[in-house]
Amino acid sequence: MNIFERLKNLFSKKNLSIEEVEEFLISKNFGVSFTEAFIEKLKENNAHYLELFEKLIRETFDSVDPKVNTDEPKPVIFVFAGSNGSGKTTSIAKIANYYKNRGFRNILLIAGDTFRSGATEQLSIWAERLGVEIVKGKTGQDPASVVFDGLSKEGPYDLILIDTSGRVETNENLLRELTKIEKVVLNKKGHINEVFLVLDSLTGLNAFSQMEAFAKAINVTGIILTKFDSNSAPGVVVPIVQTYKIPVKFLGTGEDIDNLEEFSVDTYISKLTG
Ligand code: GDP
Repeated sequence: MNIFERLKNLFSKKNLSIEEVEEFLISKNFGVSFTEAFIEKLKENNAHYLELFEKLIRETFDSVDPKVNTDEPKPVIFVFAGSNGSGKTTSIAKIANYYKNRGFRNILLIAGDTFRSGATEQLSIWAERLGVEIVKGKTGQDPASVVFDGLSKEGPYDLILIDTSGRVETNENLLRELTKIEKVVLNKKGHINEVFLVLDSLTGLNAFSQMEAFAKAINVTGIILTKFDSNSAPGVVVPIVQTYKIPVKFLGTGEDIDNLEEFSVDTYISKLTG
């Protein structure tokens, strides 16, 4: 049952309990602030609760700009951060493919995840399939040095996608590494177009903690929300967007290379309505 149907059920009860509505939205990770705003507005008029709910969702996402920054000068540079299993590697491949299909010719992947064994191999397989270049380090090599080597490669490149270690958020060393990578890119190229945090739709409230941890290490500019094809819409992006003012920029909508969309609030709402 989708979120709208669940709300309808709650509101159709004879003795409408605001506490139950509150509990439901909190349990779906929409966050205290959003939930309270909704409840507050309901008190004024609860006849159009679904419209009100939708309006507040729209306001949340309209407060940030989901447009992906591909501004010149070339190369356009994207850094990818995220926990293991979030879909980071797949998202890098999807984005390489996405921009390849949109006229970006010379694309370079930098395999900066030297921590997880297999990460570089996985990315290499994608690079080969997509016909894009890749710079790899050795297992355990300082990721920032791999990034440095990658950025030293003669191009010219239109687009450079940098993978970083999928890390447990509490791992201070790995988070520091991310800060170092950011510095290396800025020193060497003078700009980063986007730092994407890859979040799994199925993670629940933990996605908020991930955002919190990563935002301390690097200037995250956008979220890639993967596994959006899974059952329910992740409410947790609402408090993330509200708190961090960071937009969701892409949605991962399946395991295939083409299963990537730029974010739109309509798509998010259609997930809430089933
Ligand atoms: P990483 O450890 O963060 O690099 O994660 P991977 O890219 O290896 O992805 C982990 C798993 O999630 C793989 O089985 C992917 O096929 C799957 N996956 C990634 N993105 C999506 C998505 O948008 N939808 C679905 N259904 N599966 C996804």
